[in-house]
Amino acid sequence: MSASGALRLPSVDGVLRHPACLPLAQRYGREALLACLRQLLDELRSSVLNGQLSAIEIRPEVLAGRVGERLAQQQRSQVRRVFNLTGTVLHTNLGRALLPEEAIDAVQMGARYPLNLEFDLASGKRGDRDDLIEGLIRELTGAEAVTVVNNNAAAVLLTLNSLGARKEGIISRGELIEIGGAFRIPDIMARAGVRLHEVGTTNRTHARDYEAAINPRSGLIMRVHASNYSIEGFTARVPTAELAELAHRHDLPLLEDLGSGSLLDLTRWGLPAEPTVRQALLDGADIVTFSGDKLLGGPQAGLIVGRKELIAKIKKNPLKRALRVDKLTLAALEAVLGLYRDPDRLAERLPSLRLLTRPQADIFAQASRLQPLMAEILGSVWQVSAVEALGMIGSGSQPVARLPSAALCCRPQVSKRLRGRCLLNLEAALRALPIPVLGRIDDDALWLDLRQLDDEPAWLAQLPQLQVDP
Ligand SMILES: *Cc1c(COP(=O)(O)O)cnc(C)c1O
Repeated sequence: MSASGALRLPSVDGVLRHPACLPLAQRYGREALLACLRQLLDELRSSVLNGQLSAIEIRPEVLAGRVGERLAQQQRSQVRRVFNLTGTVLHTNLGRALLPEEAIDAVQMGARYPLNLEFDLASGKRGDRDDLIEGLIRELTGAEAVTVVNNNAAAVLLTLNSLGARKEGIISRGELIEIGGAFRIPDIMARAGVRLHEVGTTNRTHARDYEAAINPRSGLIMRVHASNYSIEGFTARVPTAELAELAHRHDLPLLEDLGSGSLLDLTRWGLPAEPTVRQALLDGADIVTFSGDKLLGGPQAGLIVGRKELIAKIKKNPLKRALRVDKLTLAALEAVLGLYRDPDRLAERLPSLRLLTRPQADIFAQASRLQPLMAEILGSVWQVSAVEALGMIGSGSQPVARLPSAALCCRPQVSKRLRGRCLLNLEAALRALPIPVLGRIDDDALWLDLRQLDDEPAWLAQLPQLQVDP
């Protein structure tokens, strides 16, 4: 005879009447509590019938406890802070650039109060949201005018559609790139209504290739910064200045999609050289597009800068209304651009630049300091060492450049057969922490690149909760 065969699940009311449910009702509301409890009881019903549960497991206070855990879980925000210890600084899947305090203040102001988003305070008349940052952009890039949209993909789409719809867009075969799956230059061109006219070859495109392609249906020449791959070896690329001269001789605008688009020469901070927006314009590009949240270090946005009459045309496109930025983005963007007026202090004030330029010795010292603690928490199965590592800028900037960094390298001391499972378990345990910790698995080890471990106290505080399955 099985004792559990006689077990009966308490009724919904039976559990609700238990004093343990009172605080839950107060905290989450009666309705949510009821729904959650019903769901739990439904799930348990068959287990009880099959005798898989003990009498203790179905006591009202135990069930109330489980409901409490579920409600807490459900109430937790889905948008969560994480520790990015992947080694990739501008990680697209982890939100790219972190905003400086000045931008955070501006976002708060914009969230809390009405603001002059499209209102000219001087004249009292209707204003234009792009005007809020036009002065700064002109000063920082030398552009005549600017318009801002949701991201750089939108900037490219809008520019192509405004200047090249129903015409041909001439572009080198070496620049027909894909960025992160969904953004492919040929597809965006097609959606923009521009007929792709590809010229040259993957590795070599000459001025004469562009020249030969020009015909009465030509609408523009496009150049795309091959952000996420590099062509090396036997290559040829027409310098922007030469391409601009050629385009202008045929009365065509030259668009340059810079991708990251840095505003200043990054080599002054020891970073790999990236073409600057100012240089592209000086070289003669008529329109330059770039992201706000890559090397610029600001919010997600797409900036379109360049010649006044072309920007005016772009702004008249009805798509602009669909792709425009919101007030919080503009507030943050203005604050970030403001920091660029003082390049000497930029690396202290702009988090992405501060992180990108953090000296390896500094990161290594931090790794050495944290190594004994990590070793103790992981126990004898793991060998933890502080090691030099190589990180990346991310977001397609300088795909082949590596940032000298340092990491905690966690290596399981188990047979080769068990290693993979062991690493995945540790990875999952780190993800399960209150503030999930994201590292990377490589070479039979889990690497925590510490370049971006800014908030060490918060990281340390939660580490004792790490529970790794053996
Ligand atoms: C990143 C990138 C884009 C897309 O920019 P988003 O801001 O991510 O939309 C477009 N073109 C190039 C060359 C890029 O590097």
